[in-house]
Amino acid sequence: MVKGRIHSIETCGTVDGPGIRYVIFMQGCQLRCAYCHNPDTWDLHGGKTISVDEIVEDIKRNIPYMKASHGGVTVTGGEPTLQTEFCTELFKKLKMMEIHTALDTSGFVDLDKVEKLMQYIDLVLLDIKHIDDNEHMKLTGVSNKKTLNFAEYLSEKNKPVWIRHVIVQGITDDIDEIEKLAEYVSTLKNVEKVEILPYHKMGVYKYDALGIPYKLKGINPPDTKKIEEIKEVFRKRNLKVV
Ligand code: SF4
Repeated sequence: MVKGRIHSIETCGTVDGPGIRYVIFMQGCQLRCAYCHNPDTWDLHGGKTISVDEIVEDIKRNIPYMKASHGGVTVTGGEPTLQTEFCTELFKKLKMMEIHTALDTSGFVDLDKVEKLMQYIDLVLLDIKHIDDNEHMKLTGVSNKKTLNFAEYLSEKNKPVWIRHVIVQGITDDIDEIEKLAEYVSTLKNVEKVEILPYHKMGVYKYDALGIPYKLKGINPPDTKKIEEIKEVFRKRNLKVV
């Protein structure tokens, strides 16, 4: 019986894919994004274990609203691809029940490890956190090379993707960098839309509770004018942006 380590479940999610969704937050992440609002998912040994069968039974109870809203199941985190065996088994079962499946990922994955999993995924929500590798490193602790490789792999496979990009003042809002990101995204053949997400401070209290220094102290969410300016850069390239 395949077991996974999860942080939590949200049964009526509306922001992680189409429709109303059953959202599973997996435990464990190797990145350390400065703006992460779920630092309590980082510890690979934290959370609680659950079997695929247990979670499928719970999902079954939620099928009516999922199907009525054209929603489905999203696995997010943490980083779900760290638990590929669990996710593959889960998504395989969900596809047998004709449930829409979405994977929310940083793209920090080895392609050979996710090949099988990708067969059962309808939509990938892919975070590109910074198009400049050095800045990506500073922001997340890792290079963006794997993420960009993954983006190109998904494009080759023509797998539907929503690109996500979090805007933090002074870190990810430089218009020249946004131009480069938009240019890159426009080379991908499979992007259904781009989600521009303003940085928010909702997870800050968790850092205090965990005793982890918060790197973005003093930085405020971006204003709506800046967000509009950034969205326009993507629209100019005929990308759908929300
Ligand atoms: S990839 Fe996601 S879970 Fe991991 S540190 Fe970044 S924002 Fe947090």
